[in-house]
Amino acid sequence: MKPSVVLYKPLPAELRQRLEQHFTLHCFDGLTSENSQPFLSALANAEGIIGSGGKIDPDFLDKAPRLRAASTISVGYDNFDVEALNQRGIVLTHTPTVLTETVADTIMALVLATARRVVEVAERVKAGEWQDNIDSSWFGVDVHHKTIGILGMGRIGLAVAQRAHFGFSMPVLYTSRRSHAEAESRFNAHRCDLDTLLAESDFLCITLPLTEQTFHMIGPEQLAKMKSSAILINAGRGSVVDEQALIDALQNGTIHAAGLDVFEQEPLSQNSPLLKLNNVVALPHIGSATHETRYAMAACAVDNLIAALTGTVTENCVNPLVIEK
Ligand code: NAP
Repeated sequence: MKPSVVLYKPLPAELRQRLEQHFTLHCFDGLTSENSQPFLSALANAEGIIGSGGKIDPDFLDKAPRLRAASTISVGYDNFDVEALNQRGIVLTHTPTVLTETVADTIMALVLATARRVVEVAERVKAGEWQDNIDSSWFGVDVHHKTIGILGMGRIGLAVAQRAHFGFSMPVLYTSRRSHAEAESRFNAHRCDLDTLLAESDFLCITLPLTEQTFHMIGPEQLAKMKSSAILINAGRGSVVDEQALIDALQNGTIHAAGLDVFEQEPLSQNSPLLKLNNVVALPHIGSATHETRYAMAACAVDNLIAALTGTVTENCVNPLVIEK
């Protein structure tokens, strides 16, 4: 009998068919139906799950006693309790690499949009305010040759460094726990401590995962150390930044602007003060959201699950020690 798998995100038909070649598939739109009876029955028998979002914690896992593998259609896996997965011997796979370049493009879009006030001035044009030659109230600030500070020099950080160095002649600083030889040799990136990064960056670009160590890594104290002309870009996870402290800093002029793809609560509340600020560009977590990349991520996650449940997984595994046991 084929192993039973719960799919909790819509997939293109051919990818669903690929899963069906290997598994008995139970499809759901998301984890919002978590407590519905059909979902719970499917979960009770599932050996694999595949999807994205939702909180996969011990409570959830208790409802899935036969689970052997979880495949998330994302690179970030902060919604999984990895320790609980390890204790139960459940393999977790994710989709690094296939989304790196697209997320880096999104980050550069935020850099340009905030510095040149692209969204704000386009809205002014639509509102009929462009009546004469523009005056300085329409001006932005330069991007090229400014210093970019990358907090979290991983795959995405490296792709941002490449764009910044070659595309915009920007000096690159970075803070990571390890030094990254490729960033240093190819993009002339310089490693520094967080205080130096905060003090010297014109653009502080956050590409960190959310972990216990990175939660609220940027709070009031850190924001106060930034240049008043600096722009903060966050495309890592919302909770790496203390959002209330960021709102205060943007309102008080502690920093100049922010470009945000991620938030502490998603979707962002309509009542968020961030939406009232002209110096904020807020995106709905579109880092990897292109047709090509979302397809590549889904295909990668499907292959990951097949490999995990057939015992052939060699890459994209978050907790490889589980396999070795
Ligand atoms: P990655 O290759 O693992 O890079 C993350 C880097 O962060 C690592 O290289 C690590 O470098 C650094 N890091 C981790 N903890 C740190 C700490 N405490 N202090 C300083 N540096 C630390 O992952 P990635 O593929 O670049 O993705 C990064 C994150 O971006 C994901 O985890 C996800 O949360 C987010 N993301 C967002 C979107 C979006 O749509 N906005 C899309 C994809 C990913 P060291 O080990 O040297 O410290």
